[in-house]
Amino acid sequence: MFTLPPLPYEKDALAPHVSAETMDFHYGKHHAGYVKKLNELVADTAMADMELEAIIEATHNSDDSDDKKIFNNAAQTWNHTFFWSSMSPSGGGAPQGDISDMIDAGFAGIDGFNAAFVKAAEQHFGSGWVWLVEADGKLEIMTTSNADLPMTSGKTALLVCDIWEHAYYLDYQNRKPDFVKTWLAHLINWDFANSNVKTLATA
Ligand code: MN
Repeated sequence: MFTLPPLPYEKDALAPHVSAETMDFHYGKHHAGYVKKLNELVADTAMADMELEAIIEATHNSDDSDDKKIFNNAAQTWNHTFFWSSMSPSGGGAPQGDISDMIDAGFAGIDGFNAAFVKAAEQHFGSGWVWLVEADGKLEIMTTSNADLPMTSGKTALLVCDIWEHAYYLDYQNRKPDFVKTWLAHLINWDFANSNVKTLATA
């Protein structure tokens, strides 16, 4: 039985950049809905007692229509939990710590990183996610469509921004680039990226 994890902050903590109304729908309806649907789909199957990551790995390459539904709901459950931690009420701006050196090396500094991240979001067509990932010791920005996520291509997620319309439409309507720029300036949680880099170093 999968449960909806608590948010790492109050629903109004990210306002005005992300409103409490958006959080009500996004966390309370969308994320909660993926968890509920996942539980319905895996009930009375061998997957009911598996870890979320194991379910994602087991279903992502399957052509079976039930597996595809399970993958979509399992991955969206994982992605949203990771997304809430990728934001902080005291986030935004330039990184500190290990990730700061990696951003300098990979993107010639925070301005280069921010420009590449916004461009990736703008160029992504349809629902999806913009990720900062580690692959082969280097940082990359990548986008995935729908529920897909870096672990299915062997990459390690460090941060993610949700660019499904439900993530920003109540607050930004069609202005996706404004949402992503605001997310980078005020919400991105570099401490979370640093904790994921540390996990990587000790793995
Ligand atoms: Mn979402």
